[in-house]
Amino acid sequence: MLLATAVILPTVCLLWFMTQAVKNERLAVRQRLQTWYREQGRAVIDDDYIQLVLSRDAASGTLVFDSTGKQTFPVAAADDVSNESVFRKAFALEFEEQDLSSALDEYQRISRSASEAAVRIQADLSTARCLARLDQPDKAINRLIQLLAEYDDSSIALRCWKTRAHLLLLELMHETQDDRFETILSATYDYVTQGIRPADNGYIGEPDFLEHTIPSELQGYALSRYLDYSESLAPDPTRSKTVKEAKKLIDWLSLSAAAAEDYMTPDFLNDEGVKGSGTLFTLDADKQLYGRYHRFREHTKVLIFTQESMSYWLNAYVDKFQKFPSVCRIYDAQGRLTAGPSPDQDQEPFITMPLSGWLPGWTVHLYVHDVTFDNAARKQAAVYLWTGVLVVALFLACGGLTARMIGRQIRMNRLKNDFIATVTHELKTPLSSMRVLVDTLLDGSYTDQSRCREYLEMIGRENCRLSRMIDSFLTFSRMERGKQVFEMEKVDPAEIAAAAAEAVRAKFQEKKCKFSVTADTGLSSIIADKDAMVTVLVNLLDNACKYSGDDKQIALHVFEQNGGICFSVADNGIGMTRRQMRRIFDKFYQADTSLARRAEGCGLGLSIVKYILDTHNATIAADSKPGKGSVFTVHVPPIEP
Ligand code: ADP
Repeated sequence: MLLATAVILPTVCLLWFMTQAVKNERLAVRQRLQTWYREQGRAVIDDDYIQLVLSRDAASGTLVFDSTGKQTFPVAAADDVSNESVFRKAFALEFEEQDLSSALDEYQRISRSASEAAVRIQADLSTARCLARLDQPDKAINRLIQLLAEYDDSSIALRCWKTRAHLLLLELMHETQDDRFETILSATYDYVTQGIRPADNGYIGEPDFLEHTIPSELQGYALSRYLDYSESLAPDPTRSKTVKEAKKLIDWLSLSAAAAEDYMTPDFLNDEGVKGSGTLFTLDADKQLYGRYHRFREHTKVLIFTQESMSYWLNAYVDKFQKFPSVCRIYDAQGRLTAGPSPDQDQEPFITMPLSGWLPGWTVHLYVHDVTFDNAARKQAAVYLWTGVLVVALFLACGGLTARMIGRQIRMNRLKNDFIATVTHELKTPLSSMRVLVDTLLDGSYTDQSRCREYLEMIGRENCRLSRMIDSFLTFSRMERGKQVFEMEKVDPAEIAAAAAEAVRAKFQEKKCKFSVTADTGLSSIIADKDAMVTVLVNLLDNACKYSGDDKQIALHVFEQNGGICFSVADNGIGMTRRQMRRIFDKFYQADTSLARRAEGCGLGLSIVKYILDTHNATIAADSKPGKGSVFTVHVPPIEP
């Protein structure tokens, strides 16, 4: 009971602690994972990439104001130098009277006589237009090519007229299917995008840039014409790149133009929502526009980003988080989902962290699948479980070991008690009979000398019995202490049988026992301690005699089997039940423990037999039936070659 309590109590306590630990594990794992994700997330966040996203190339629109607060980009339409008074007559001839030849002459005259380049270029462009209308496209084309080479780009007016000349030239060449069409098309693209191409490092809106730009509206129109013409041509990889670029520029110009109307001056930058130079702020929450401003060379530049463009760039960025077993979403300062998959349900983010100093209020949300930390928690719980199982197993093993030791101690005590009980019981009988006989002799109450001799012989027999018993106790004691020494030698089995038969012969004769000893001829020798083997056979023969009725028939037979030697002792005695047979080799076991039993002995004979045979690697088998008799067969293994 005590032992069970000593094992069970700590085991129950341990199990309780374990369940508590497993319960807390989910929480602990969650916290650990959060720290880990935060660290990993911080490592992934890349301010350089964010800077790139917020660069001019990724912007959807641009506004530039000069030091006086005047808008310098998008470039406003130039005051068209239409020179109404100079061209009044020519326009009347061309458009009202439809007299194209006279109009042509008039335009040529103006071209020759005008001193201003802006007037001359307009007259030359009109000349080309009249030639085209007069069905002389080739002449018109030549005139336009000549015009483009003749005038420089020194004023915005000249650049506007040259852009229009390019467009007319393209129209004519397209109609006449001129071979030079594609060359002129790309020349037109290069001309109209000067300074605003992403590859140009010019500062948009600055005087240097303004020196070679044209009004944004005309620029946008020219680019859309470029796109129309490009579509009519066979696909070409270099042009498809330019087409993509042109589309982007058109969007950029139109968004810039739209924003320019809303923000005529940089005053909106004093708004509270706009924090610092370089950081992103919400420009227009309804239109989902963000802004970022810089000052450079006394100019104020505002880059405009749409929600879509931010989504486009940040979606690529979100992929960096894919290495975690998580879903990543980026929310803008207004809490609008900007990048990452749209959420299926109201799922709580596992961790939330700021995206970048450049995007104030923008956050990265990482969502971890439940499975992820279920797995982590399960792993940790498994570690606890196994540790617990190990400790419980240790408790049980220690408990088992202690129980075994205690059991052994108990058995030893029982053995000791049994021994004392048996010894006193067995010694008492011969001693008391001897005392009675000695008392009778001392009394002198015997009639004749023969009676005296008979008494003395009886005392002698009791004495022998006592000696035998003490011998067996001593042998048993030696065996128990492992002190019995055997002298192994090569012996003839028949000799052993003969010696044993000799030892019991007198006793058997006295008991009127029919005893036969037979041995097969040519038996192999065995390796054994001869005296010990004789003791084995004597004990078996003794038992055969003891446990037989009045008509005793005992046979000792020696024969060879499976290369080994067998000694069988058969009797026609009382026999044994199966249950008794299972225990006869136990120390102190006696089938009949009643005080009335006739047979002498103390339940050690067969234990001694078993001990001796074990040391000889020999075996013993008993076959018996109650009332029919028993056969004990000893098998000694052959000598190993
Ligand atoms: P014991 O001193 O009682 O003879 P043993 O160890 O020699 O002790 O035998 C143990 C028990 O086995 C005996 O008490 C007896 O009941 C049973 N036994 C042994 N040999 C025989 C036999 N030949 N016939 C019947 N019972 C036997």
